[in-house]
Order: sequence, then structure tokens, then C-alpha cells
Amino acid sequence: MSTAADLEIWFLTGSQPLYGDDVLAQVAQQSQQVCEQLRESLHALPRVVWKPVLTTSDGIRRAMLDATADDSVVGVITWMHTFSPAKAWIAGLEALGKPLLHLHTQANQSLPWAELDMDFMNLNQAAHGDREFGYIQSRLGIARKTVAGHVTDPAVAQRVSDWARAATGWQASRSLKMARFGDNMRDVAVTDGDKVGAQATLGVSVNAFGVNELVTAVDASADADVDTLVREYEETYEVAPELRRGGDRHQSLRYGARIELGLRQFLEAGGFTAFTTNFQDLGGLRQLPGLAVQRLMADGYGFGGEGDWKTSALLRILKVMAVGCPGGTSFMEDYTYHWGPGEQRILGAHMLEVCPTIAAGTPTVEVHPLSIGAREDPVRMVFTAAPGAALVVGMSDVGGRLRLTANEIDVVAPDQPLPRLPVARAVWSPRPSLTTSAECWLLAGGPHHTVLSSAVGREALADFAEMARTELLVIDAGTDVRTFAKELRWNQSYYRLAQGW
Ligand code: MN
Repeated sequence: MSTAADLEIWFLTGSQPLYGDDVLAQVAQQSQQVCEQLRESLHALPRVVWKPVLTTSDGIRRAMLDATADDSVVGVITWMHTFSPAKAWIAGLEALGKPLLHLHTQANQSLPWAELDMDFMNLNQAAHGDREFGYIQSRLGIARKTVAGHVTDPAVAQRVSDWARAATGWQASRSLKMARFGDNMRDVAVTDGDKVGAQATLGVSVNAFGVNELVTAVDASADADVDTLVREYEETYEVAPELRRGGDRHQSLRYGARIELGLRQFLEAGGFTAFTTNFQDLGGLRQLPGLAVQRLMADGYGFGGEGDWKTSALLRILKVMAVGCPGGTSFMEDYTYHWGPGEQRILGAHMLEVCPTIAAGTPTVEVHPLSIGAREDPVRMVFTAAPGAALVVGMSDVGGRLRLTANEIDVVAPDQPLPRLPVARAVWSPRPSLTTSAECWLLAGGPHHTVLSSAVGREALADFAEMARTELLVIDAGTDVRTFAKELRWNQSYYRLAQGW
């Protein structure tokens, strides 16, 4: 899979020809310095590439068209170093098809009070140059992030980084191809939805396959490759003795490896970066895919159970945004509650498919019966999620558009050991409380399938929502139900009015 190292963000500086060549040369030199500082602060993210200072409408339009046409460019940062009459930006802004960040900064951090003269004033006029630019963006209804501050401020670097992460996620979304094995779990509403609308909004294409096409790939995997993969499992995880070579149930692990090989081959051959399965439609598969799905998620693939293509797409997007961040990102489902005594908790899990990137410690690999699916006992990784702050995010189709609902949570260690629970799980306290979180989530029509991420924060998620022009509701420590219910109603009106941007 491609990484951020192949990608670029273009740094565009605005000015005008009236200043003359000497001043424009200074503008160019200072904007290169600012760009360099930004590039250093965005390590492990797309490279920030400086472009020559823009002074004319034609030049601006051409730069925006070039950025839009170049697949390696995930977004554009603009800064009006001096005054850049904003009518010159209209054609370019209308032509731009990539995420935009307006950086409102200044080359100088401090004013040279004693030496301050009109030359300095004329050179350092972003204070009003960027206001002119803000005006035209608002007038045209341009989606963008605005970040104000000096580039040496770590808060500025962090906010630009969040946007850059969102831009890489947006690029992954625009080209996301998903393989959907089977259809939706019968009668389930929230996992269904308007796939054509989602492709128009997010770029995600959802492609259905009969599950027996996957079975063909699984059955075709070579015994030697199965041997190699089983050895990898034994070296990487705490594999149960009965599953190890020589163990009574070693064949179950070998079949689990065969599923992984077949699934990986199928996805790679088709250029798919996300997939779904459906336990009601397993065709010739002998086990429900558990371990294989967990391993593919750990490698960055999106996944949704029961045909849930929206959560699968969201997981893939957040996986891309999370590259290089500490923490993990997984498919998740709100499963069961602890209402007390003591702290109220949500226990999240799925039948099998939780990603080991959120694990505390080394997962065990085990085999146990599964009460649904009517197949052989599936192999799976079992672990508990690492404690720490995280987000759960769900995507639902609310009719004519998509809605993202997020909750800030604190993943905690389980109150007691869970010796009889044979699946991977996460235990958390939702903010501000279980009751308020659950009431808001239910009012929002948020799904039961989510993505749990301790790697992607709310600002990067909000930046992604802005790029996708998609509603984002966040339930956090400050949320109360009455205000949240009003926000929902306001948003209903707003998003209806805003359709057809
Ligand atoms: Mn489920």
C-alpha cells in the first residue's frame, strides 16, 4: 500500500506584481523559509513542496489546475505573504479539486519595534492580505481549514499535521475500491444505504462478489505458503498449544492461514483496500474468517462485518490517516454494558474481528466454537485493548447524505479478568457519561458498528469531514443531551439547504 512518503502538499504564496522585483524576491525567499519550517514539522507526512510566488490570476489558476491534476498532491496550503487582490484567486479557487488549508502567518515572529519602518510594513502585510483571501473563500463557499499563528508554534504545526493526515485519508477515500463478499446481513438497516451516493460523496466504490470467488482463492493457496504463514503466527503471537504444529487442532490454524492467503491474494489482485464479509453467506468457506480479517486490518485494510461497507470504508480512511501515529485503529461494535456498581462501562467486541493494533500486549491465537455461522470453529486472536484516550466513530446514511457521529472515550482495563470471553475486546468509559453518550448516539442514529481509534484525534476527523462536506457530530466531555438534540435539528436544516454546493 502507498505511504505518505510518496505524497505532496503544495505551498502556494500569494502576492501581486505592484511590489516590484526586489520585494517579490524577498517574498519568495521568506516564503521558502516558512515552507521549510513547515516541512520539518510535518515529518512522516506528505512532503510540503514550495512553489513560486503567485501574482496573477492566470498563474494562480494554472497552479490550482496542476495541483488538482497531479495524483501525488493531496492538498494545497495557501498564504498571502503580502496583499494579493483576491479577485485574482476566484478562477483558481473554483478550479481547485483538492483540500485547501489557509495558513495565516507572517515571516517575522516579532515586530522590530525600534527599527519598524514602511519597508517592513509593506513586506509583512499578511495581517490584511490573508483577510482579503479569507473574504473571497467565504464569498465563494470554499471548504477549507484556516490555521492562524507563527509556524514555529507547535500548536500550528499540530493543526497543519492533522489537516495533512485528513488530506491523505481523503485521497485514499477518493480512490477506495472495496470488495464486498455477499450482501448485507438480512433485515439489518444501518449497515445498508446508498452506495451510489456514497461514491459520489466519498469516492468509495463498493463491488459485490459471490463468496465462492473468495473460496476459490482460498482453496488455491499453496501448502508451502500455508507452512510459512503458520510459522509466522507461531513466532508473532502466543499460539494455543492445540493449534501449534503437532497439536490436536493444528488443521484449524492451517485453514485460518489458507483464508488469509486467499483473501490477501484476492484483494491485492483487484486493487481493493477494504472489504466486508457476511456470516450468513459463507459459501464453501469452512470457517468464518477471523484471524485473517484481524491480520489484514493490522496491515491497513478496511473491514466491516455483516456487509457493512460504510464502516469498512471509514476504517480504511482512518487507517491511512493514522499512519505513523502511536496507538491503533480497529473495527468495533458496542456489545454490552456495565451499568454499575462503580464506573459505568461499554464492553466492545465483535464476533471475532477486532484489530490487534489496539491490543495491550501480545495477542493469543485460539480456537473456540462460534454459536452462529454453522461452520467449523474459527481461529481468532484474543486480547484486551490498551488503556488510553480514544475516539469511536460511526458513519450512517441518514437519507440523502452521510453522517459521522463520534464519541471521545477512555479505554480502560476491565474491572476484572475475563477468563471465559474468547474474543478480542475493548472496555471503555464514554465521555461525558454512558447515559449521555448513549442517548446522544441514539438520537443521532449512529450505528452499532464503529471504528475505534487511539491514533486519530477529533481535529483530524473534523478536517476530514470538512473535506467530504459531511456532517460530524462529536459527543465529548462537554456534551449535554438538550444542546445536542438542538444541534441535530439545526444540522438537518443546514445540510438540506447546503445540498448542491
Ligand atoms: Mn456486527
